[in-house]
Amino acid sequence: MELDTDELLASLTPREENPAIKTYQNTVSVACPACEKPFDDLVVCKQNPTSLNLSKQLDLCVGVEDEQAFIFTHKP
Ligand SMILES: [Zn+2]
Repeated sequence: MELDTDELLASLTPREENPAIKTYQNTVSVACPACEKPFDDLVVCKQNPTSLNLSKQLDLCVGVEDEQAFIFTHKP
């Protein structure tokens, strides 16, 4: 799988950023590069390792580019 994050991030709406992660909302139903279903949010991990404190149960798809993890969330 080839992950073109520049193109991906250009389509998404930035939401939250903190020292560990940056989140984007998928307001235009971009397909997930892993499973090809539209995802809800993208979480970019800026620190390695990093912890995600998820408040809800989500299905996750993960890609890595330039040693950064990109986590695509799907509501089950
Ligand atoms: Zn997916």
